[in-house]
Amino acid sequence: MRHEKMRLCDICRERRAERMETVVENGASVTYAYCEACYRRALAAGMDPIAVARQSIARIGLECPSCGCTAEEFEARYLFGCPDCYRHMNGVAGRELARLRQGAGGSDVVLDELTNEQRGRVRDYVVSSRVRLARNIEGLPFPRKLEQLAEERLAGRYAVAVDGLRREAVLAAKGIFDGDIYYMAELDALQKAMLLERHIISLPLAKSDLGAVIIERGDRPEMSIMLCEEDHIRAQCVRQGLDLAGAYARLKKYDEALGRRLPIAYDSGLGYLTACPTNVGTGMRASVMMFLPALKCTGRLEDAFDELRERFGITVRGFFGEGSEAAYDMYQMSNADTILFGGEDTVRLVESAAMELAAMESDATRELLRTSETKLLDRIQRSYGTLLHAHTLESDEMFELLTDVRLGVRLGLFKILPEQLDGILDDLATAFEIIGDDLSAERRGVRRAQIVRERLGAI
Ligand SMILES: [Zn+2]
Ligand SMILES: [Zn+2]
Repeated sequence: MRHEKMRLCDICRERRAERMETVVENGASVTYAYCEACYRRALAAGMDPIAVARQSIARIGLECPSCGCTAEEFEARYLFGCPDCYRHMNGVAGRELARLRQGAGGSDVVLDELTNEQRGRVRDYVVSSRVRLARNIEGLPFPRKLEQLAEERLAGRYAVAVDGLRREAVLAAKGIFDGDIYYMAELDALQKAMLLERHIISLPLAKSDLGAVIIERGDRPEMSIMLCEEDHIRAQCVRQGLDLAGAYARLKKYDEALGRRLPIAYDSGLGYLTACPTNVGTGMRASVMMFLPALKCTGRLEDAFDELRERFGITVRGFFGEGSEAAYDMYQMSNADTILFGGEDTVRLVESAAMELAAMESDATRELLRTSETKLLDRIQRSYGTLLHAHTLESDEMFELLTDVRLGVRLGLFKILPEQLDGILDDLATAFEIIGDDLSAERRGVRRAQIVRERLGAI
């Protein structure tokens, strides 16, 4: 009995080959195999099936037959088209992941879980903690690719999957948080601007027609789930102060509920599969927002950031986006690596790094006091006076003055809570949402000053 191995068509690599053709190439005989459909299509197009097969073979590893993503497309946007790309374009994916692994900052620091007492001690330095998980659905092209396919009118069969994703993402919240879903296609520019300002949605999501967001009800929502941003699901939890552990605990419950409801794209070797290879593995980003005026003032910010990068594999950036000058002297530090660490390990890593940074900021504050106490205290008190009595405030000016006053709070000069100052930003966002665009710059300045006075208890 002859044992025949099933051979796939050299052109589509999907269907079983039914026709073989053997030719001599460079002195050796080579057999090409085609399915009936591909063979006929090549002939109908007036092409030699052998030429088509050669072309197709040359593209192996450079193209994903599931979604049509090519190596060139990946290079251009640094995003894959679907979870299958990692398998089909394994040359491209392997090279990228090897490069990322090499750059991944290891950590030989002993990582103990922090106590609540330790977390409380850095309250004057840490504004908020945020954990984000990126998840995707098996067999469904990533959102950017879906939008591209929609342009080519091929998205119809995926519309059902996207509906299912939205429905299940809402249902998964049951018993974890009460939330409402908002569709980007239905929100107006002002509503989007407010969500952007509060970092609940990102700019790419705001611009996406497919995008939606589930937001926890209440004044200060902790949980929010972006759907069809860069990945199918970007779930995040934000908490006040240093509390990555608390944020992660909530998020983990939601993630587990999602996993029971949706076929999440996961590879036993690589971990969670994401549109951008920098998130592959755990898909987890843990970040802490810190207030660092003393390090900035003493010119030690860059050295501190370098040290964190080396010791913990942590990256730091300004609050309002990459490379931007940080307003309000706020900086966001987060894990750079999603391959080696994940879950509670990442929480401990980033929390430990935050403690280190807080200690450096504390040293810098002491040095500021030692070298220029009178000048510093005078500036802080004057800033406080201006905030209490100004009739109008420009946005930049307000941030500068608030930075001084927040430093004053740390030094025990004022009986104000740090949260009270951060709350001013929330109030401003809400106020300008209600009043809207028709407010002139002059009236905005006056309104801004009024809100600040109210918050500081001057009215
Ligand atoms: Zn075929
Ligand atoms: Zn693909």
